[in-house]
Amino acid sequence: MYKIMTAGPTQVKENVRLARSFECTNPDLDIAFYDFYKETCDLLSKALHTTNKAFILGGEGILGLEAACASLTEPNDRVLIIDNGIFGKGFADFVQIYGGKPILYSDDYHTSVNVEKLKTFLENDHNFKYATIVHCDTPSGVLNDVERISKILDDYGIMSVVDSVAGMFGEPLDISNSKIDILCGGSQKALSAPPGLTMLWVSDRAFKVMEERTTPIASFYANILVFKNYYEEKWFPYTMPISDIYGLRKALDNFLEDKEVFQRHEKVATACRKAIVESGLQLYLKNGWSNTVTVIYVPKGVTDTQILNGMKQDYQIMISGCFDVLAGKVIRIGHMGENAYPQKVAETLDALQKTLEKLGVSIHGDMKESFFSYLL
Ligand SMILES: *Cc1c(COP(=O)(O)O)cnc(C)c1O
Repeated sequence: MYKIMTAGPTQVKENVRLARSFECTNPDLDIAFYDFYKETCDLLSKALHTTNKAFILGGEGILGLEAACASLTEPNDRVLIIDNGIFGKGFADFVQIYGGKPILYSDDYHTSVNVEKLKTFLENDHNFKYATIVHCDTPSGVLNDVERISKILDDYGIMSVVDSVAGMFGEPLDISNSKIDILCGGSQKALSAPPGLTMLWVSDRAFKVMEERTTPIASFYANILVFKNYYEEKWFPYTMPISDIYGLRKALDNFLEDKEVFQRHEKVATACRKAIVESGLQLYLKNGWSNTVTVIYVPKGVTDTQILNGMKQDYQIMISGCFDVLAGKVIRIGHMGENAYPQKVAETLDALQKTLEKLGVSIHGDMKESFFSYLL
């Protein structure tokens, strides 16, 4: 078995795995399950400080992003795609599939979205139904100030769809201090439940826009509106993956009980970055580091595959490479959720150092020791 220190999925705690083995009822017919589902969704709302209704959908994080775009987009709607990363840019595909007109606003992939530059852009062009933006864009690890940006967009009457799949539960996020209309999350990142579920937090304004559409939502499985009254009607659009939801609930209980969760992420991530820099390796970002993932350039003379394979073979530790425009250029250590513990990150850095040295890359000092020294 590998220790998964990837940028998601993350490690899954034993109590979450056990919760997935609880005996199952029929989730379509058992009223008690509707109560359990609603209670879990209400806790999700509470966890992100909002009265916006939360929903759990049976499908990977990508389903949440697609459902948001499917439910809001009507043919020819102009949608602003805030692009400073691979997931950010990817929203354009969903908008296009559902007949909208994605307008790309691109910024430097090495930094957080520059809010002042975005404001200047919006002064000249703000005729958008909604905008999409990513909280933590995992391929580069950049963190955007989505609370602030959603408020700026709202000044122009633009709604916000935010992908925080790899941000939430590792980075603080307060929906009540934002104008986020649809927030998307996933089970397998900082929440540390297995992959398979997406979570959505939907504002009343977003529901109103869906209800007032002049064209029908061009999807059934990715239609958020069909979930709106599930509790009153005691009806789900499809059979809920009950065991996955039991697991997610336990993971959420773990999160809510952990009073130091954000400090732990910050401490571990900061020390990890400092140890990387001190070792002579290079971070991909110039600023705006998310505390959920650290993204490092592949050093000269070796490939990402050599590093990843070496760490798996010799140390049974799995870290991530990357894809799209960053394929082969960077490697990534995921330190979110259950991964965000000092001992786990220290072991990963130690294995990375030894693997690189075996491949002929010279590293300054001892990464594990410097990591521990920066933790204090
Ligand atoms: C992981 C992730 C998703 C979901 O992708 P999956 O392929 O479904 O895991 C979406 N957005 C971001 C930023 C992510 O990190």
